[in-house]
Amino acid sequence: MLVRDKLFIGGRWVAPSTAETIEVHNAGTGEVMGRIPAASEKDVEAAVAAARAAFDGWSHTPPEKRAEILEKVSAGLKARADELGRTIAQEVGMPLKMANRIQAGLPIANFANYSKIVKEFPFEERIGNSVVVREPVGVVAAITPWNYPLHQIALKVAPALAAGCTVVLKPSEVAPFNAFLLAEVCEAAGVPAGVFNLVTGYGVPAGEALVKHPGVDMISFTGSTRAGKRISEVAAQGVKRVALELGGKSASVILDDADFAVAVKSTINGCYLNSGQTCTALTRMLVPESRYDEAKQIAAEVAKGFTVGDPLAETTKLGPLTSKAQLERVRSYIRKGVEEGAELVAGGPDAPEGVPPGGYYVRPTIFGKVRNDMTIAQEEIFGPVLSIIPYKDEEDAIRIANDSIYGLAGAVWSKDDSRAQRVARRIRAGQIDINGGAFNMNAPFGGFKQSGHGREAGKYGLEEFLEYKSLQLKG
Ligand code: NAD
Repeated sequence: MLVRDKLFIGGRWVAPSTAETIEVHNAGTGEVMGRIPAASEKDVEAAVAAARAAFDGWSHTPPEKRAEILEKVSAGLKARADELGRTIAQEVGMPLKMANRIQAGLPIANFANYSKIVKEFPFEERIGNSVVVREPVGVVAAITPWNYPLHQIALKVAPALAAGCTVVLKPSEVAPFNAFLLAEVCEAAGVPAGVFNLVTGYGVPAGEALVKHPGVDMISFTGSTRAGKRISEVAAQGVKRVALELGGKSASVILDDADFAVAVKSTINGCYLNSGQTCTALTRMLVPESRYDEAKQIAAEVAKGFTVGDPLAETTKLGPLTSKAQLERVRSYIRKGVEEGAELVAGGPDAPEGVPPGGYYVRPTIFGKVRNDMTIAQEEIFGPVLSIIPYKDEEDAIRIANDSIYGLAGAVWSKDDSRAQRVARRIRAGQIDINGGAFNMNAPFGGFKQSGHGREAGKYGLEEFLEYKSLQLKG
């Protein structure tokens, strides 16, 4: 049992102001795997005060020194990579091998990357008679979700610290243990007191108290569109800067000349990654009407390869969902798809067989003949549920891809790379993979429309945490 009973504030592990705790469940078994403090507004107050007090010193620390510390954080995480991967596999449910590579690997890489970026970043430039200076925005509240918990934390904390901001992190109460490991690593790496603070608790009161607090200058949030809207409203009262990374309903557009075996398989991999609990999941697969049957057959075959099971077992390709609430939500969407008349090609709402009792398992599901106005094509399900949507021609495919309140990601497949690029340029979304183009940690990541605003990753992620200041020179 993992029991954490302290918060990390002002460089020390301090007892929270109340005895209230939150139980954390193991996704694979449903059992309670540990407890964390449920911070109150008073704890948030203390954390913001510590971050404010540390801001002046840290914001004037030379970028080279900040880079050195970030490099140490990366090394510290690397030294504990196995522990991180295993913890997150249990909190979230991602199969262990993948969790080691993605959930532990990406944060290690991002802290190291920001160490490099900040050393090379031009913090000043001369425009006519002005010197334009980039300065840190101030105290940042980082509020994060549970699906890629430490990755999402790293994409905020690493660039914010690189920029010279100080941070109060409120991680997801569903998968929080990785954040405690990060706090220990920061402490050991010599992050000065108050520069990084950790408060754990519920969205309300802990998260919202941070958003409201006059001592917080910026909120960087990743999570649901629902919470993002609420955070924007509350932050507007203090005219605070808000960066939002929200949900998605991304389309994989398979053009008629594409290699269907490759495109369908990659789309399903992109849909089922982390049991579909990925904001960029390719959940709508758009195929030409004329090749619908072929696409459906390949998809049904590919889905069979997703062995559902314990995230710690070697043979598992699809782990459980993260929580009981998720399990109920995803099953109800699958039932809704059936009710609305979509064709059930694979899976379904019933529990899969041969999985550990108590875990939050769902069957890899594929719906065919989905219309884009159906609930399963419009709402973010956040589970391993793919909708195959037939289209008439290229123009129709682009229309369907854009017919969504979201605009986070997408994919386009064609034998002709320039045709694929042409279509990709017409899709209103923040990142689009062309013919399976690889993930690039230096490319900007973020959404159009209700998928949010602001960009994370690479130098774009650093710029989020900077203000401009112009100094007009006389001569
Ligand atoms: P969530 O919005 O419920 O919670 C996210 C975080 O916000 C948690 O730490 C939570 O405690 C906090 N929170 C909730 N209400 C709050 C409030 N009123 N004020 C302040 N904080 C509050 O989301 P979740 O269920 O943890 O995550 C799943 C969602 O996140 C999905 O919709 C997914 O698409 C989205 N997501 C988006 C991205 C992206 O980069 N675009 C990445 C991952 C997840």
